[in-house]
Amino acid sequence: SLSIGIVGLPNVGKSTLFNALTKNDVLAANYPFATIEPNVGVVGLPDERLGKLAEIFSSQKVLPAPVSFVDIAGLVRGASKGQGRGNAFLANIRDASAICQVVRAFSDPNVVHVDGKISPADDIETINTELILADLQTLDKALPRLEKEAKLRKDRSAAVAAAKAAIEVLDGGTTLYSGAAAAKIELEHLRELHLLTTKPFLYVFNVDEAELANESFLDELRALVAPAEAVFMDAKIESELVDLPEEEARELLESIGQNEPGLNQLVRVGFRTLGLQTYLTAGPKEARAWTVPVGATAPEAAGVIHSDFQRGFIKAEVVSYHDLVEHGSMSAAKAAGKVRIEGKEYVMQDGDVVEFRFNV
Ligand code: GDP
Repeated sequence: SLSIGIVGLPNVGKSTLFNALTKNDVLAANYPFATIEPNVGVVGLPDERLGKLAEIFSSQKVLPAPVSFVDIAGLVRGASKGQGRGNAFLANIRDASAICQVVRAFSDPNVVHVDGKISPADDIETINTELILADLQTLDKALPRLEKEAKLRKDRSAAVAAAKAAIEVLDGGTTLYSGAAAAKIELEHLRELHLLTTKPFLYVFNVDEAELANESFLDELRALVAPAEAVFMDAKIESELVDLPEEEARELLESIGQNEPGLNQLVRVGFRTLGLQTYLTAGPKEARAWTVPVGATAPEAAGVIHSDFQRGFIKAEVVSYHDLVEHGSMSAAKAAGKVRIEGKEYVMQDGDVVEFRFNV
């Protein structure tokens, strides 16, 4: 499944954030894979539409789309030179589809900073440098093999060219995600290498609660990472919020000028960074959000529920969430001509409420 790897220097609040994510474990019962790995936390994508659907269909339960976070321990300054546990973190990070970098911006003098000073810009550069160095090592190691293969198989010379161009980009201090397109590198030739800096990044700035409403401060941090997305939170507050009853949690959020937990924003931004969207199904049993890549067709979307649904796909009955809610029930939406019959070519839209017809 698609997951987001959490990285960052020691003492920036990764564990605090990760614990808050995993305590939020309402999903564990429904997504058994959530409890298998201790370093994986599965969080539901906050989606107000599901509650509304559950009302319309009298659904017994609500199942949001799961988003997995993986705690990638061990990335420290000098990891590529064997510091800390060296490159042991690589095994965990290779499978992640996006990388979430946690950056310290909180000031607490009681929490030691590994480099002795709080500097988000320097910390980001340190982490990026380690990821770039890790990719350079991977490429340097692979290049002789790719060159040997290219002597035997002409079609492998594209991989050699891509590897050399990638080394040049990385040597210039740029990640492949930012630099590959401009350098015209065809990254698909290097896919087998699972290069870390080809993944999209997002950033969590762990800030003091007092700064959460300080827009000019947040804008400065945002500018450090743009065009990547930034989420701001106080990880300590987030870890307290997940332990509080709903009403008290709301009061605490209000007292720091926020209308939702930072974790919710993180899950949403993470989902978007992964290039995903959701479609919805609803019935008396459950109202549920299903995850598909942006651009997925109706049969591909059916396949997310069950591979048999994709193989035997006939058609999809589709109504947009907005139209359904406006008319208040499926039958009223039908009577108003808002329920469409869509075929194999249909490209799914976020918020489609769907029923699939298929042969078994
Ligand atoms: P990690 O090494 O990145 O996993 O960092 P931890 O989550 O273990 O946090 C390191 C220390 O910083 C712990 O003592 C945390 O309680 C503290 N800490 C984490 N987040 C915050 C925060 O937002 N504000 C403050 N003041 N302390 C924090």
